Amino acid sequence: MARSEKGVPVKQISRERIQILFRLAQEKRENPVLSARYISLAREISMRQRLRLSKQQKRSFCRSCGTYFVPGENLRVRVQHGKVVYTCQECGNVVRIPIRKNTNR
Ligand SMILES: [Zn+2]
Repeated sequence: MARSEKGVPVKQISRERIQILFRLAQEKRENPVLSARYISLAREISMRQRLRLSKQQKRSFCRSCGTYFVPGENLRVRVQHGKVVYTCQECGNVVRIPIRKNTNR
């Protein structure tokens, strides 16, 4: 595995950076331009290092336009036909997630 000069695995550093970027996006959520920028940086790192985002991280932004979701602000959450429907109020992208019992997905 690739390592930095200090011998720390690059993937580990990348994972930390992604966490930091998501935290910053949340902190700066009143500034949609800035938080979207943090999200796009985090996604860039995850793609380059082929790191998976956590379930929580994946749900926190719009996959289509990259907006950081603030529920009630730019995200509409509805339950319909046994699915949770997330609608991005910025671009109108809709994500449906089936509700399953006793699973962690
Ligand atoms: Zn969107």
